[in-house]
Amino acid sequence: MSVAVSSSIHQILADKGLDHHGQWWQERIAAISADQVEAALAEPPGRYRLERLMALISPAASRYLPAMARQAEELTIRRFGLTVGLYAPLYLSNYCINCCIYCGFNRQSHALRRRLDIEQAVQEARVIRSEGFTDILLVSSHDPGFITVGYLVELAGRLREIFSSISVEVQQLDVDGYRSILGAGIDGVTIYQETYDRDTYKRFHLAGPKSDYDLRLSAPDAIAQAGMRRLGLGVLLGLGDWRIETLALAEHAHYLMTRYWQCHISFSFPRIRPAMGLDEVVFEHLVSDKELVQMILALRLCFGDAGCVLSTREPAWLRDRLIRLGITRMSAGSRTTPGGYCGPTDAVGQFEVADHRSAAEVADVIRRAGREPVWKDWDQAFVCIQ
Ligand code: SF4
Repeated sequence: MSVAVSSSIHQILADKGLDHHGQWWQERIAAISADQVEAALAEPPGRYRLERLMALISPAASRYLPAMARQAEELTIRRFGLTVGLYAPLYLSNYCINCCIYCGFNRQSHALRRRLDIEQAVQEARVIRSEGFTDILLVSSHDPGFITVGYLVELAGRLREIFSSISVEVQQLDVDGYRSILGAGIDGVTIYQETYDRDTYKRFHLAGPKSDYDLRLSAPDAIAQAGMRRLGLGVLLGLGDWRIETLALAEHAHYLMTRYWQCHISFSFPRIRPAMGLDEVVFEHLVSDKELVQMILALRLCFGDAGCVLSTREPAWLRDRLIRLGITRMSAGSRTTPGGYCGPTDAVGQFEVADHRSAAEVADVIRRAGREPVWKDWDQAFVCIQ
């Protein structure tokens, strides 16, 4: 159910100057003092205010990471218990009509391409299921002639017998499209704005439907209006100034949470990873390990109920440390090539995986960190599938 809204997210970001990475925001964040950070840390954890988040992501707050980590761990245990959910991505196609120049699947890349038909996708999914997963994320590039709503509906119909939760990270659909896949048993959608800065967006998205910033920004509303249970948001870290991106992302999440109560929001933190054809692309805003940790902790402390998701883009040593600091869901044993679970393939992956451990090994690390790896936290029986 949605409530009447007076302002769109487009308007909110424009009014606050968060759809452009102006000098003004950088100067404000740089001027935050230690006293302001301490005041932000003294506020009840889990509540969002833009000024509070600004203090927690400031350079001044980087000296307070141990205190932020302690609060984040306590808050996460209070809201989510001693658990970390596990999921696996299943790549369906790497043909793409878009030209996002940070991605190895972009249409100008000379990568070997592959599409999985329904039977091939089910075979891959069975391998994932045999590793223990009951939570699967269906991923595809923008391949509209092949990965259609009908394809997703048919595949979900086959997979919901063996998976308790199915989510997608595919091209943007309209509200009816999201309703159709929800009706087929898909209960979550992840969609990244990539960058909230309009100029940066234009520079990295050269062609295809995804090059329309405003259209992309409208997707989470459509997903929530369709009644989807889970909605994942994120920016691709490395494109724009991470501090201003974090503020815009938080405003977007806050906007959605106040309008669509039924939709559980989570944040992902993908950093640019090496991929085919990216050698010549210049990324001026690469995010360090310490900055990534600060971003995760700051969002956790401002959004106590939000999920925090970490993929195998990050190296094992860092993922292991973050298990206790606010992460609620992790992928494991991931292959980012269509067909990669059933055996070696020449098709290109979207990015190079950094954590190559198996699902069982990651589950073991989670246990040793004092958390319970959760393979199943949802069942389609909880909802009425049309
Ligand atoms: S990011 Fe997505 S839409 Fe863009 S080129 Fe890669 S697969 Fe295609």
